[in-house]
Amino acid sequence: MDLFAMKDYDDHELVVFGRDLDTGLRAIIAVHSTVLGPAAGGCRMWPYASTSEAVTDVLRLSRGMSYKNAMAGLPFGGGKAVIIGDSRTGKTPELFGAYGRFVDSLGGRYVTAEDVGTTTSDMEFVSLQTRFVSGLGGDSGAAGGDPAPRTALGVFLGIKAGVRFKLGRTDLHNLCVAVQGVGGVGYHLCQLLAAEGARLVVCDVRPPAAERARAEFNARVVPVETIHSQDAEVFAPCALGAVLNAQSIPQLRASIVAGAANNQLASDADGTSLYSKGVLYAPDYVINAGGIISVAREYSGGRSEAQVTAEIGGIPERLTEIFERSRREKRPTNVIADDLARQRIRRGDRRLVA
Ligand code: NAD
Repeated sequence: MDLFAMKDYDDHELVVFGRDLDTGLRAIIAVHSTVLGPAAGGCRMWPYASTSEAVTDVLRLSRGMSYKNAMAGLPFGGGKAVIIGDSRTGKTPELFGAYGRFVDSLGGRYVTAEDVGTTTSDMEFVSLQTRFVSGLGGDSGAAGGDPAPRTALGVFLGIKAGVRFKLGRTDLHNLCVAVQGVGGVGYHLCQLLAAEGARLVVCDVRPPAAERARAEFNARVVPVETIHSQDAEVFAPCALGAVLNAQSIPQLRASIVAGAANNQLASDADGTSLYSKGVLYAPDYVINAGGIISVAREYSGGRSEAQVTAEIGGIPERLTEIFERSRREKRPTNVIADDLARQRIRRGDRRLVA
């Protein structure tokens, strides 16, 4: 593997591999940019089939965090970590302790938190070894804790912005939303959508998760292979990445794609395909920033949960600006968002962060 020659290596400042023989830890931390501040992003635990698969994932995710943090106006750069392992069978307090020491060895250049496969409790073990960790949950009323409900709130507000822009509607009554993955974020998203009268179609590779959405929100459960082609106004990917690709896009029936998953586009060209098909795509790292806003404010301290909620309220406005520019400039939304994010990072524009 020629790391520097990889397309996804992009402008990464630092990529480090951590190994701990006693606990079996195999982890990679990628720091894409610290121009706007310490690199912040979660730690994913996943049973990658190969090291190169893990490297590609961490690189793509960490660049996404740079763009996400820049667009959210946060005083943080972008980074991400992956632990190679199965989160259902491979977790121990010692493993997360070793991971905490690995994070600590970077001296604050990278700040970690939970992501797919890791939880608030895992981060508590990490925090015994390093202070460069967030998403721990603090005092009631203070910013922080599990970011999933905050991400769901941002996605919900983003869906409403998309519906307003594309369909000219201000309510969600009877509107159908197909939610792919009803885990931490997807479940909370369903809760918010159902409360506003939306009809839900859901799927999950874990049958009990889908069953819970059926029982609580009257959601229709469909096979995982068919969720993207459901007859719905909105498709909300809330599972894993690369779900928008050359196979799935021709089958899409929704006119809006707006969900929480990171790296939804398999490639940039897929953003162009969506645009050409007339599908409004809410760039993933703009719509799913609610969690990192919460985690970042918890880390910096001094903000309340109410202030974080108000800040998440800025997501629909940012999306609408991107939608409008896309229409005006006749360019895909993902291209507009990437341009804006790169500009902010290039300028090291601390005027935009607070
Ligand atoms: P999660 O692991 O809690 O939930 C994901 C759900 O998707 C699980 O229920 C899983 O069984 C299901 N799933 C996995 N593969 C699937 C498939 N092929 N088809 C259908 N269902 C599938 O994760 P989460 O925290 O809810 O995050 C979901 C997505 O949102 C991830 O891509 C994550 O990176 C992204 N995201 C999460 C946050 C956050 O705050 N948790 C923030 C930003 C982005």
